[in-house]
Amino acid sequence: EKLNSAEAIALEDKYGAHNYHPLPVVLSKGEGVYVWDVEGKKYYDFLSAYSAVNQGHCHPKIVGAMMEQAQTLTLTSRAFYNDKLGVYEEFVTKYFGFDKVLPMNTGAEAVETALKICRKWAYEKKGIHENEAQIIVCENNFHGRTTTIISFSNDENARKNFGPYTAGFIKIAYDDIDALEKAITSSPNIAGFLVEPIQGEAGVYVPSEGYLAKAKALCEKHNVLFIADEVQTGVARTGKLLAVQHENVQPDVLILGKALSGGVYPVSAVLANDAIMNVIKPGQHGSTFGGNPVAAAVAIAALEVVKDEKLAENAEKLGEIFRYELDKYISTSNICTLVRGKGLLNAIVINDTEESDTAWNICMKLRDNGLLAKPTHGNIIRFAPPLVMNEEQLLDCISIITKTLQEFE
Ligand code: PMP
Repeated sequence: EKLNSAEAIALEDKYGAHNYHPLPVVLSKGEGVYVWDVEGKKYYDFLSAYSAVNQGHCHPKIVGAMMEQAQTLTLTSRAFYNDKLGVYEEFVTKYFGFDKVLPMNTGAEAVETALKICRKWAYEKKGIHENEAQIIVCENNFHGRTTTIISFSNDENARKNFGPYTAGFIKIAYDDIDALEKAITSSPNIAGFLVEPIQGEAGVYVPSEGYLAKAKALCEKHNVLFIADEVQTGVARTGKLLAVQHENVQPDVLILGKALSGGVYPVSAVLANDAIMNVIKPGQHGSTFGGNPVAAAVAIAALEVVKDEKLAENAEKLGEIFRYELDKYISTSNICTLVRGKGLLNAIVINDTEESDTAWNICMKLRDNGLLAKPTHGNIIRFAPPLVMNEEQLLDCISIITKTLQEFE
């Protein structure tokens, strides 16, 4: 029995915890840049599951790799070896230029993993006294919502009444190199600097040119690990394979998730060189599903698609067009003040407050007009379509967006 939208929403409402506030649209099919709701209406996906579906919905090569592996061997746990994991580990480390990988499932889990690696490294390689390591993080960060990660979040909604919080974090302003230098030199106990190369959930906030390169140089100078959370920005989203590559930065620790699997299956990873990764010994970290053969097969296929279909190049090119066209619209707009972003990770800023419902109302109208996007704040809408989009489709989307905005002028 097929559910209609109202029935599907009612079921989630009744039986699911209310830990999300979804836009009211019930999807039942996806292909490339398109998704369809249960009534058969077709939409452009302009969110890509928060930048996980970079390779497009149900990419046949990735789904094929998953199906083939799922019919052969799905899970052994890491109690035993499997014949796919090593192949994937060699592939992914060479792909991103690191010695080693630690496979996980979700973004937040990979962030937690990176924090543990950083602390252990600080005690064993940097000589920081046990329990005294400090990790620098940025204001308005988003790295997930585990108990440790919310400890250094600014999001009161995600924090309040979830304490006590984990100690060991110093928060500084984002995109402020002096603040970083001050924090790094403030104590001999600084172990790492955890940073998003572009802050996605904060509303697609792009730091000043040179910030990441200067931050990496400071970290190097003071023997502090530069930990890049590329869960949202990685895997071609911003027009390069990694967003740090816009400034030729190679992080000490790289965190990947989301599009590492093309959204087909949960796959995340932490990458680092031997001098760092070798601090982790058997039993100190792990996950039943991390590094399973299906994940390995899916991630290889997903990364091959990125190169074969030149998704980084496409994101770079289409991103330029998107911002150029939106800028043109904004120059005569009364409600839209700014478009910002890199590659195909962009946001528009609406002339209203963070608490307003204007961005939500615009997204509802975009939905009616055949395009799905989601606000990050009451006045900010993020735009992140699948990177397999072509120019004609993008121009069609721009026309939907500008016509929709017109209805609010
Ligand atoms: N880090 C960043 C930068 C993210 O954008 C996200 C998800 N939006 C996460 C971590 C958490 O990933 P997940 O939802 O897979 O746990």
